[in-house]
Amino acid sequence: MTARPHYDLVILGAGPAGSVLGLRCAQLGLRSLIVEREPFPRPRLGESISAGCLQQLQSLGIGEAIAALRFPVADEIGIRWGSEWQTRHDPYPGLLVDRGAFDALLLRMAQAHGAEVWQPARLLHRSQMEQGWRLRLGHDTTQRDVQCRWLIDASGRQRALRLPLRHVGASTWAMHAEWPQLPPSPRLAATAQGWLWRVPLPAGMSRIFVFKDATELRRQRAASSLAAAYRQAVVDSEILDQGEISADHGRVLAVDASAAQIDWPLPDGLLAVGDAALQIDPLAASGVQVAIQTALLAALVLNTALHYSADRNAALAFYQQALCDTANRHRRFAQQHYAAAGISSAFWRDRSGTELETQDTHAAASPLELPRWLQLGETTHWEDAPCALTDRIALRPTLVCTDNGQRAAFLGGRLLRDLFPLAGTKVPSTQLPGEAVANLLRSGLLRSALAGAD
Ligand SMILES: Cc1cc2nc3c(=O)[nH]c(=O)nc-3n(C[C@H](O)[C@H](O)[C@H](O)COP(=O)(O)OP(=O)(O)OC[C@H]3O[C@@H](n4cnc5c(N)ncnc54)[C@H](O)[C@@H]3O)c2cc1C
Repeated sequence: MTARPHYDLVILGAGPAGSVLGLRCAQLGLRSLIVEREPFPRPRLGESISAGCLQQLQSLGIGEAIAALRFPVADEIGIRWGSEWQTRHDPYPGLLVDRGAFDALLLRMAQAHGAEVWQPARLLHRSQMEQGWRLRLGHDTTQRDVQCRWLIDASGRQRALRLPLRHVGASTWAMHAEWPQLPPSPRLAATAQGWLWRVPLPAGMSRIFVFKDATELRRQRAASSLAAAYRQAVVDSEILDQGEISADHGRVLAVDASAAQIDWPLPDGLLAVGDAALQIDPLAASGVQVAIQTALLAALVLNTALHYSADRNAALAFYQQALCDTANRHRRFAQQHYAAAGISSAFWRDRSGTELETQDTHAAASPLELPRWLQLGETTHWEDAPCALTDRIALRPTLVCTDNGQRAAFLGGRLLRDLFPLAGTKVPSTQLPGEAVANLLRSGLLRSALAGAD
């Protein structure tokens, strides 16, 4: 008889991805252990939290706890993107957070929902069993053996499990340091060699990032120190006001900020979430949102694998496809924004990929007058495909447009197959969400019908 695993999953890392995975898995009734290497609070890059991320946290039931930390709202940004400085107001503002406090709160929330936490500790050894893993975890003085069905890498760019990752596009490095002054709002500036981001920090400080091509940075470092290359880039960019230039900044550090994604297939019983699975270009300032999104999907995948094992492979295929779609969407976003700067030097040429610009059909979508009656598009067919339900991934009938490969399974929370059971069924559009209907009309999955069966 095999011993019952102690945990359904062990999660390595308590950044946003690891904590949200632990929290969501606890909500789904799974037993998880989060193992974090550092004592909290610890510093982390990624202080701009997007509005989409706040919505995710709201839907997890922790929006109020985040609001109680009273982080400043980021509704204004100073920007010079290829032209003059201007102030831009964000209609969907996010927050400027202290990542030490933000991440510590997410971990406390995961614990409050039932995830166990061991901190500081890390994985010392693993061996595979017939169904799952035997792990040795520990720190300097204490060690402990546990068993689990799934082992999850949520250790960010450290990639504790060393699962294969491939860079996507040009390699970018970020140099950064803390400065004593506080700008009134974040600032973003493009220069010929890259771009800079100045973000207010708690305690009246700011951090200035300098993003550069990896090869160019290596070349500069051969000629001067990292600190000298950094300071020169900051001074040339005008991201500081005149009176601030002579100030002393903190130690200059450099990190890899390239986009990358995990290579599939993964070894049995291993999964990755957050930056360990998918790293997007920091230009979008949405890394935390993407990390949480991967964690929310992975929780459904794990619940499926553990409790609906017939759909296990479909769930893993769904996760792989979702990561790939997210990577492509963010790559297109970044390419369009690099192209918009209109700078012709190598850094911008290598990242702007203008050939992909026209493919973003949603960005170009113009308002559509909705017809009163709807029916299935002319060139569509049904296919069973994995879909995300509230607690798992399962195969559901999906409507596919034969001409362009676009697909959808739900409309306004209802299965399309239930709404349109027969090829000729006509449905009134009045009770359906207008934006979703418009997207299905644009993609050819639905078309207008002349008259309904009143
Ligand atoms: C230069 C730069 C600027 C960025 N700016 C932004 C921004 O403005 N907004 C934004 O949303 N995103 C930004 N990002 C991205 C953002 O930082 C990440 O996407 C996000 O932090 C990923 O969360 P995560 O939980 O996957 O990993 P992390 O936040 O990296 O957390 C990983 C955790 O795992 C722990 N760990 C590491 N190794 C081990 C181990 N062996 N065992 C146990 N624990 C381990 C670490 O201590 C850490 O707590 C930026 C990234 C870069 C590089």
